[in-house]
Amino acid sequence: MLHPPPESWSPAAPAQHARKEPAGPWHSEAACRRDEAGLFFAPSREPTAHRLSREQAAKAVCARCPVLLECREHALDQPEPYGVWGGLTAAERRVMLGRRRRRDAAEAPPSMGRIA
Ligand code: SF4
Repeated sequence: MLHPPPESWSPAAPAQHARKEPAGPWHSEAACRRDEAGLFFAPSREPTAHRLSREQAAKAVCARCPVLLECREHALDQPEPYGVWGGLTAAERRVMLGRRRRRDAAEAPPSMGRIA
């Protein structure tokens, strides 16, 4: 698993991060294979200033990761609800997914059941 959550992390939905299988074939090249600093997941009751600093540090790791795009697409496809994946925080991924949904809806052909 990529950057496993630290022991101090208390997830609302732990099963999704408790996967034992690699997230994809790109996993072996991940720059965060050993997240010893615990950068990618928030510990419980993390102060905002600490979270912002930690997320920036995680993003710096992502920026030099050779599998950033694969990781990002994986996190968007799942979707992964927590942590920094592919250089994006969970909030940033939610925004990106919302944009994709709106774009897809705008590009979809008109429904057969609707009469204009
Ligand atoms: S992009 Fe970031 S979160 Fe994804 S594998 Fe690379 S270092 Fe890890």
